[in-house]
Amino acid sequence: MYKYNRSRSYGSSRPTSGGHFQGQRRNNFRIRSLPNDPSLFIRKSIQGLTAYEQTIQHSFADFNLTPRLKSNITNKGYTTPTPIQDQAINPILEGRDLIGLASTGSGKTAAFLIPLINNLYLNQHQKTLIIVPTRELALQIRDEFKCFAEGMNLYSCIIIGGANINRQVQEIRRSPQVVIATPGRLKDLIQRHIINLKDYSSIVLDEVDLMVDIGFINDIRFFISLMPSSRQSLFFSATIPSKVQGVLQSFVQDPITISVKNQDTSENVDQDVVRVTNPAEKVSKLHDLLVQEEFKKVLIFGRTKHGVEKLYQELTFRGFKIGAIHGNKSQGQRQRALDSFKNDEIQILLATDVASRGLDIDNVTHVINYELPETYEDYIHRIGRTGRAGKMGTALTFIS
Ligand code: AMP
Repeated sequence: MYKYNRSRSYGSSRPTSGGHFQGQRRNNFRIRSLPNDPSLFIRKSIQGLTAYEQTIQHSFADFNLTPRLKSNITNKGYTTPTPIQDQAINPILEGRDLIGLASTGSGKTAAFLIPLINNLYLNQHQKTLIIVPTRELALQIRDEFKCFAEGMNLYSCIIIGGANINRQVQEIRRSPQVVIATPGRLKDLIQRHIINLKDYSSIVLDEVDLMVDIGFINDIRFFISLMPSSRQSLFFSATIPSKVQGVLQSFVQDPITISVKNQDTSENVDQDVVRVTNPAEKVSKLHDLLVQEEFKKVLIFGRTKHGVEKLYQELTFRGFKIGAIHGNKSQGQRQRALDSFKNDEIQILLATDVASRGLDIDNVTHVINYELPETYEDYIHRIGRTGRAGKMGTALTFIS
């Protein structure tokens, strides 16, 4: 049975919190290879942290939104705007360009969807394009759109890889006001002249730092070159790496910049390591953890598709209720695994970094880094899947 090691040994050159480290990265450096150093992964959560550190100025009732949208917001169960919603909704309603420095968990999706839906409702001939890095994120945004736009005569379509292209072509031809797309399939449909970016009066680039990490920077430049010059541009990214600066300049005009401290920072997460001395004991140590009562909803990260698949086979063999999302799974398989995990039909979800970024899953009790991520920022993204919405979570990192 593993024991928590509570040694506290932060060196002065090391990050003392995720936010601090990310701030450093924003100022232009990025660690490419993460050292196998336990002190990076041991940190006690701060109990009693308030969900929002910034003061909220508005209620949803204050915003000049059409009554149906207001009631959809209420039906969704949102009572108070998150900081980014508080600050972003009015400028977007006014048509301003915006740079939102915020990551998943901040409520940024609603921060752009709510005002864009209102604007589209008032100008039904206009259209919005939302470009996101992953298929899962696209589906998540579409689900949220459907809730907010219910009964407003506004329609959306999803343009993502791994799904039937002909159906997407048919949907685009019906001219929905909102298109949510991942870069690869979007480029494909542009090149086939199915979709014309000149038709879109507002464009959202979401999770831009991840799109750049995945290698979509040239595609983004290509998309921007095709956009109408008169447009509303919204740019969301947790950080602005130097590579993105140029893109940003060519994308937005006279933007308002909003930076929010993530509601779900690692401060809500108890972080610790699990030491293994030889590779053979790794799976059995993991097994010992997973059978414990408190490991109710566990997200396990591997680094490669191959590694994740191997662990998936092993844990399935051991009788765990488990799903996996990685690049070698079809979109249908990924979505089914994700839904079963969200609905508590399985206890464990295995994932690679790319497949899991931006995912919003409630009540994850534990994040386990079975393999180290490539960068510290990936580590922060991983552990941010637990300890969300004011709850406490635990992150355990295997090190040898
Ligand atoms: P996001 O950062 O957009 O992925 O949102 C993170 C989570 O917060 C999602 O589950 C949203 O449904 C939820 N959320 C966003 N805004 C609010 C709000 N104002 N009140 C309650 N929950 C919210």
